[in-house]
Amino acid sequence: MRSKIVAGNWKMNKTMAQTETLLGELAAKVPDTDAEVIVAPTFVNLAAAVNQLEASVIQVSAQNMHYAENGAFTGEISADMLLDIGIGTVILGHSERRSLFGEDSALLSKKVHTAIEKGLRVIFCFGEELEDRKSGNHFKVVEEQLKVVFDLPLASWKHIVLAYEPVWAIGTGETASPDQAQEMHAFIRKAITSSVNKEVADKVTILYGGSVKPNNAQEIFSKPDVDGGLIGGASLKCDDFMAIVKAL
Ligand code: PEP
Repeated sequence: MRSKIVAGNWKMNKTMAQTETLLGELAAKVPDTDAEVIVAPTFVNLAAAVNQLEASVIQVSAQNMHYAENGAFTGEISADMLLDIGIGTVILGHSERRSLFGEDSALLSKKVHTAIEKGLRVIFCFGEELEDRKSGNHFKVVEEQLKVVFDLPLASWKHIVLAYEPVWAIGTGETASPDQAQEMHAFIRKAITSSVNKEVADKVTILYGGSVKPNNAQEIFSKPDVDGGLIGGASLKCDDFMAIVKAL
């Protein structure tokens, strides 16, 4: 049985007071579920979020981290700093980090290795751009992006969650159809089977992300290779996020 996860990436949204309000609502409304429920507020609110959710099943993730242990990296946050405040999970490779902050596979590989060596779980994001899909290159692009995790030692895989997020579906209101999501998730398991092994491919949790909303979540999550979702916009509203958690 693979773990099921719904994770909300809040990006650069919510002040501390707004974070406290939304977390209070989420903690009060989270349903009894086998799925893991994770929220990723901005860095400055992580410690307060961990404290506020101490008695809740809702977990807190970071949205990013630096690969170095410490040092002269102005404005950056290390794995140890996250662990020190009780964070167990970090999102790496989000398409906004790739496109707006120039993060490539070489950098992401360093980040993923550090995160896992330090004991964090990684939600590793990847996905093709619209031109890749239009030109039929989407499988090739995704397989290339996955090389970052194919390089990991076998024992690391239990700390990896994959999040397939087609860039053309992020924040656009355009979702991959449930069949397109299933097709890619099945391809990802096949690629892991060839590059790593079948046991890893069968066990790894693969989330879908890209305009998941209360009205489409159930159909997407019903696909056999989709183990949950990474949610952007809809994770900022308690009722929408909770409806998506219930859909899983
Ligand atoms: C995301 O940014 O990871 C995401 C999936 O955003 P949205 O749900 O808003 O498309």
